[in-house]
Amino acid sequence: MGELLTIDEALARILERARPLPAELVSLDEARSRFLAQPALSAVDLPPFASSAMDGFAVRAADTPGTLPVAFRVAAGHPSTDTLPAGSAAGIATGGAVPDDADAVVPVERAVDRDTAVEIAEQAQPGAHIRPRGGDVEAGAVVVPAGVRIGAAQIGALAAAGVAEVSCARRPRVAVLATGSELRAAGETLEPGEIYESNRALIAALLAPAGADVELLPVVADDPDAHRAAIERGLSADVLVTSGGVSVGPHDLVRSVAAELGVEEVFWGVAVKPGKPLSFGVRGATLVFGLPGNPVSSLVGALLFVVPAVLALQGVADARPAYETGRARVSLRRNEGRDEFVRSRRSRDGEGTLLEPVSGQESHMIVRAASADALVHVPRGNGEIAAGDPVRYLALA
Ligand code: AMP
Ligand code: MG
Repeated sequence: MGELLTIDEALARILERARPLPAELVSLDEARSRFLAQPALSAVDLPPFASSAMDGFAVRAADTPGTLPVAFRVAAGHPSTDTLPAGSAAGIATGGAVPDDADAVVPVERAVDRDTAVEIAEQAQPGAHIRPRGGDVEAGAVVVPAGVRIGAAQIGALAAAGVAEVSCARRPRVAVLATGSELRAAGETLEPGEIYESNRALIAALLAPAGADVELLPVVADDPDAHRAAIERGLSADVLVTSGGVSVGPHDLVRSVAAELGVEEVFWGVAVKPGKPLSFGVRGATLVFGLPGNPVSSLVGALLFVVPAVLALQGVADARPAYETGRARVSLRRNEGRDEFVRSRRSRDGEGTLLEPVSGQESHMIVRAASADALVHVPRGNGEIAAGDPVRYLALA
């Protein structure tokens, strides 16, 4: 392993190769959690007509105060074609179309309804309780911009604006492969020297919520032919993520087999703990990540590097991990050579978030990591971060 890249350099090299995938039309039902590739434009003025914000009476403001005859009553969905005669009022429900010649609505709470007439004691202000046509958005204007992830409010906005289909980035197809002759599936009996395989499910659980369409490939033994077949298959995806076999041991075959199959290595080795021997390469448009096999190394590597790539492939403008800030609850020793991600628990005091490492920081200790809800970033250097000093962290779901 030559010079280790910094995390930022490594991420920059990944993101410059993670170009947005082609867009596809998606019905609104299927658009939830997807990323818009093109801005979605409103089909209509919204509201489509001037409508009442209250149950009450539509009037000409200049006719108030006074007792006005009720000319007719308007229900939602049944606009009146009548004009409002001067000096009269029209009963109206919330959402009802305000007659053209009315310019205010007096809420029922401010009126005395005498059936054929209404008593209005106060002067109504022009425009009061009327939602103007196009007041939310005008026809042809942007409802949701490109790059935004479609959540509940966006679904509602698109439906309200009459948008039935949106242009979304295709979901990246991600193949996940685990290597290691010692790996068994949960439910099997472990023979001496064997452990249960955990990384494929872990990686899938990180990438699927980021929008990836994940395919789990079988676990492969530390054997070149098995590696060749599985890696070749994974290279048909948009992203291939492998776990294990990227260190310097005699059974670490991923990089050499990938190279044989035409993967150009962009880098190998990042100054991060855990996760140092992470590799990244490309074959054609396929991005290839080699994550180290220790489960916490896979977790950190996938969070720092693969999730951003999956987001960038979907057109997210700034796909870099979103750090939050808090304060160290205890002092944290810095590592001289590598930035470290310390599995930590969050708590709160009057001033904000405090972070405290969990016990058990070794990279095989996935159960200890599972008791954490944050990864605190301890930049490399000498000495320590003192208790109370600011730190940044990545939240763990
Ligand atoms: P490697 O990166 O292949 O050298 O693996 C490093 C350590 O992680 C070894 O102790 C492996 O047994 C373990 N390991 C590798 N892959 C997995 C996996 N998919 N699930 C659980 N542990 C793994
Ligand atoms: Mg291995």
